[in-house]
Amino acid sequence: MRRKVFSIVCGISLFFASAAMANTKSLVRVSNLKPSQISQLAAEGYDIPSVGRGYAEMVLEGPEISAFVKKGHTVKVLVRDLDEYVKNVKKTQNKNNAYYTYDTMVKRLNEWKEKFAGICRLESIGKSHEGRDIWALKISDNPEINEPEPAALLMGAHHAREWPSVEVPMATAKQLLEEYEGNEEIKRLVDNREIWIVPMVNPDGVTYSMEKSRMWRKNRRNNGNGTYGVDLNRNYGYQWGNVGASNSGSSDTYHGTGPFSEPESSTMRDFCIREKFQASISFHTYSELILYPFGYGYNIPNPDSKIFVKMASEMAKFNGYDPKNSAELYPAMGDSDDYFYGELKMLSFTFELCTTFIPNASQIATFNGLNVPACLYLIDKAGTYGLVNPDGREEIVNALDLPGSLRAIADIVNLFGNENNIGMRNEALKQLEKVSQRAASLVVEDMKNGNSAALEAVKNVPQASLAMSFARNRVLFEDAHRSGSIRPELVQMLKK
Ligand SMILES: [Zn+2]
Repeated sequence: MRRKVFSIVCGISLFFASAAMANTKSLVRVSNLKPSQISQLAAEGYDIPSVGRGYAEMVLEGPEISAFVKKGHTVKVLVRDLDEYVKNVKKTQNKNNAYYTYDTMVKRLNEWKEKFAGICRLESIGKSHEGRDIWALKISDNPEINEPEPAALLMGAHHAREWPSVEVPMATAKQLLEEYEGNEEIKRLVDNREIWIVPMVNPDGVTYSMEKSRMWRKNRRNNGNGTYGVDLNRNYGYQWGNVGASNSGSSDTYHGTGPFSEPESSTMRDFCIREKFQASISFHTYSELILYPFGYGYNIPNPDSKIFVKMASEMAKFNGYDPKNSAELYPAMGDSDDYFYGELKMLSFTFELCTTFIPNASQIATFNGLNVPACLYLIDKAGTYGLVNPDGREEIVNALDLPGSLRAIADIVNLFGNENNIGMRNEALKQLEKVSQRAASLVVEDMKNGNSAALEAVKNVPQASLAMSFARNRVLFEDAHRSGSIRPELVQMLKK
């Protein structure tokens, strides 16, 4: 055992001697680490894309590697020169398999805007530090109107070098647009949701990572002290701070001079406040994880944990990823999920795609295929689980159609039917009452028009007993006071 460690250490020293001259970034696995040591490393601001039992995979430069070796850690080099590695990945691209650049993304978004004008619209929601537009594509029926429909958001590339994170939102948009005609399930989502796609939150960083330094992570802020870049996923304003984020401008996890100091993160903040999303996914690479809040510290209570766990485990069935509370990886302050959920009550998830930062281009179709269905699930559930939160839902609930309200009722009852936590149960019950009132009013309206289809639909959903009793009470009341135009045979039907 000792000899083995010794030989790895020797290998590292040789490697270090040849690589240290340039500021070469390597991906290494540092082993024999206790969980407390891993969170300490994260707290010190190290760039740690992946964590496992007793080890952390880290992006390090030569001197940092030798420091770990000197401290007696076992270090295994996974990718010796990450820039070289990505250069080789770039060579795997061809006409059919290529990562989106900023320019090809903009071109594609504009093509879609023209071709699918009836169900989408394109908007610049803000400018990056270097003045690039941050583009958002809205997909919905009546895209020009802000309709009271459940809203979902997909985001890519908070982190520059994580190119697959742009692909999955774009692939989801493509499927929604191209299959709108001819796929009933897709049509239902587009017609009944407001879907927004922001495929590249950090266009400056992505462009820099493609043209210059391939392992670039941050935005391109000039920090003024010879260092560049702020880590946008440490710059959000909910519990912004120093855990898992760095004060130093040279660090890959530099959190900036203050919460929302960066145009990219403040653009996302303003956009999300405006659109009142129910649910979101922010894509990153790598580790094959589905993460949910809170991430800023260990064991922070999350009042909606039941919904997060349920949705994460359902999405994991599509991609086989590991669902986890974000802090289980390691705590980090100032990430987007904590702000979106903590401040705006969005059901916010982070997907860590793939098993490396940038897989070969031949893999794009594979990871898209695994993850687009999970996105469709999230978009759908924005309209059921997404209604079980306070704030800004009233309007949406009051606008639900009957199938939409019945789906919401079924999901809420199934998830909270056996809930032991009284606070959680009461919150769910409150929302269930609202949705049931909505379904009941649609039934009564339908009956007043002499129809019984809505009544039958509600009867067919066993979880909708509350809606039924609301409808029954109202109809019987109106019947007793002869105030409605409900036909006697429908009253009889309801009594049964
Ligand atoms: Zn990332």
